[in-house]
Amino acid sequence: MAVTPRGTSPVPPDARPRLTVLSGPSGVGKSTVVAHMRKEHPEVWLSVSATTRKPRPGEQHGVHYFFVTDDEMDKLIANGELLEWAEFAGNRYGTPRAAVLDRLEAGEPVLLEIDLQGARQVRESMPEAQLVFLAPPSWEELVRRLTGRGTEPPEVIERRLRAAKVELAAEPEFDTTLVNTSVEDVARELLALMDVV
Ligand code: ADP
Ligand code: 5GP
Repeated sequence: MAVTPRGTSPVPPDARPRLTVLSGPSGVGKSTVVAHMRKEHPEVWLSVSATTRKPRPGEQHGVHYFFVTDDEMDKLIANGELLEWAEFAGNRYGTPRAAVLDRLEAGEPVLLEIDLQGARQVRESMPEAQLVFLAPPSWEELVRRLTGRGTEPPEVIERRLRAAKVELAAEPEFDTTLVNTSVEDVARELLALMDVV
């Protein structure tokens, strides 16, 4: 399977990249923005990751994540079935490779919502991808959102906030930064970056 590198593609060189990576600290609002965007544009395809994390209330297998055991994750990694994977705050997460490559081959826009380590791996393996960083309006607001979501115990929130400091420092590595003040505005900006509207 070949994803045509930019420059040799038959599409004009200024065409938007098909693969978009959305990253940002836990609690910044990535899932909220993506859900809002897909409510109005269900044609935007979002990769469903595999994770060893336990489901939160309401999360469905195959919809929000493929919830896998440690052994299953070991196998996915060993068999080269993941485009990228990373350990984040005590759990492993990875992007199933085949589904993403199929969509790209069909010329469809593809969105990955993954952490910083994953974004770096995608940048290495698919330099044509555009990397978008979702930033909080302030550190205090990030803490408020992560705590207010109420899905993690305090020690997990602490761990995620430690990771958030590292992620915020890496913002300059990204092609574009969107500040999540308004979900509607960010969703619109993201759609424009993906050339969907
Ligand atoms: P992430 O997917 O980045 O971990 P979530 O989408 O779960 O973050 O959002 C974390 C919390 O912040 C949720 O309670 C969500 O409702 C809230 N939130 C998201 N975006 C905004 C926003 N623009 N303004 C206020 N609250 C927001
Ligand atoms: P959560 O547990 O809050 O759903 O996700 C925690 C972090 O893992 C978030 O930053 C999210 O973007 C990231 N993540 C989700 N799926 C993947 C994936 O497939 N690969 C990587 N590297 N990170 C992921």
